[in-house]
Amino acid sequence: MKLNFKSLFSKELSADPIEGSARRQVSDASFSWVKTRVPSAAKLVHASKETAALVGLNEEDLRSDEFLDVFSGKKQAEGSVPYAMCYGGHQFGSWAGQLGDGRAINLGEVEHQNKSWALQLKGAGETPYSRSADGLAVLRSSIREHLCSEAMHALGVPTTRSLSLILTGDEVLRDVMYNGNAAYEPGAVVCRVAPSFVRFGNFQILAARNNIKELERLVQHTVKHFYPECQHEDIAISTARLFKAVCDKTSEMIVEWQRVGFVHGVMNTDNMSILGETIDYGPYGWLDDYDHNWTPNTTDSGQRRYRFGNQAYIANWNLLQLANALYPLTNDPEPFESVLKSFRGDHHSAYLNMMRTKLGLSLRKDEDEDLILDLERCLQLSPCDMSIFFRELSHIDWTKQELLQQVSKAFYVPSSLVGDTLLDWEDWFRDYEARWQEEAESSAVRQEGMRKVNPKYVLRNYMAQLAIEAAEAGNFELINELHELLKQPYDEQMEHEKWYAQRPDWAKNKVGSSMLSCSS
Ligand code: AMP
Ligand code: MG
Repeated sequence: MKLNFKSLFSKELSADPIEGSARRQVSDASFSWVKTRVPSAAKLVHASKETAALVGLNEEDLRSDEFLDVFSGKKQAEGSVPYAMCYGGHQFGSWAGQLGDGRAINLGEVEHQNKSWALQLKGAGETPYSRSADGLAVLRSSIREHLCSEAMHALGVPTTRSLSLILTGDEVLRDVMYNGNAAYEPGAVVCRVAPSFVRFGNFQILAARNNIKELERLVQHTVKHFYPECQHEDIAISTARLFKAVCDKTSEMIVEWQRVGFVHGVMNTDNMSILGETIDYGPYGWLDDYDHNWTPNTTDSGQRRYRFGNQAYIANWNLLQLANALYPLTNDPEPFESVLKSFRGDHHSAYLNMMRTKLGLSLRKDEDEDLILDLERCLQLSPCDMSIFFRELSHIDWTKQELLQQVSKAFYVPSSLVGDTLLDWEDWFRDYEARWQEEAESSAVRQEGMRKVNPKYVLRNYMAQLAIEAAEAGNFELINELHELLKQPYDEQMEHEKWYAQRPDWAKNKVGSSMLSCSS
């Protein structure tokens, strides 16, 4: 097994002079040197061949003892000098001070085919940032992170990747619903892969501590490796350019979440990647029935700050916090203000364009906004499965009447399609049909395009939960099956038809399927 380690972050930024994992406030530094914990009996549950190939590993490598040793944290790979990053963040709208990699340990960056990939073990032990927690992760949340990262990538959503899922052989104590029922669960380690794991919070903590030199170094590092088009000898100019680029990337990521019905669940600024990639898969969820107010995160069930329909607003709010952190490098609010001012409008236009693609419309007509907003309203009149609705729409036979009936598979309570609800839906389909006829391309061509943006298979919450329950009983087959299924989410996979179905009734209010906490 050959990994070509080239440390970038730890060479270009300042190290904490103190070693060891004693909890502390780490000032004047961007990271601390740490060691990974040795697991008692590591066992590979699953590895992604696709992510392995990115970093230069083949299938034989994945089966080797060395792979298990390195990616469980048991042994240090040659050239790897592990560290934990220091970052801060706003959690649920309030400044939380220093957070940092409390249970993520970076092995360093590896170079393969002229690309650089940071490798990070999640759940491999304590760091100075672990605060009152143990630095560990449980199998349940690790399965969710591993499967979802790879599924999101296959859907075309910007995301961190997941290389491997390994059981540690150790037990981890968790109180899943924070209600005094703590129990031991199997521990696990996931290896995440991304060009960089720098978050908004990395910049925030430096600004909060008035460490402007290090803040400048972090901007230079980020621009040099990830946003080279923003480079300028004047730091104020490269900072302003970087901010604009991050706004664009973040907006694109949110549009993609909206396209596939993904709710992140904890959009704290420490969970926002500077690359605009989905990061930190915690109490995330997928919309079954389309509902702007839905959040999977029980910790947020009162305020619903991170609900599906609020994600663009929160992205904007988080970007404002990033702007505040970057401000000392420009000493001029203007470049931030102008970009932030247009964020919501630009995002909304991008959202409408995305929705046009879901509806198979390529012309850009102003009246489409009404059509789309009206559809959002109709989708919430009676429980309607988002993924199934758009997928069925991609197959409509336009020569037949009864368009609504052709998508009936999407409705959870078909008997509710009466009265005003029925009339509203019929109106909407009438408008849609009229609009459909205005396009030049054939229906068949457009429907083929629709099937490339309206996935047939997504990792519904209950599917992940079934894989978790089987894995906790020692059976990993469903993890393999779902991983394979979700690699081709847009293909008709007739042998997997059972996964193209509404959420079953039992999963509606079940812990793990519709209710998730931050406990992981
Ligand atoms: P999250 O809500 O998962 O993004 O985590 C927020 C902060 O808590 C981050 O600084 C994490 O590193 C830290 N954290 C979460 N779980 C643990 C844990 N089990 N041990 C140590 N730190 C943790
Ligand atoms: Mg986090």
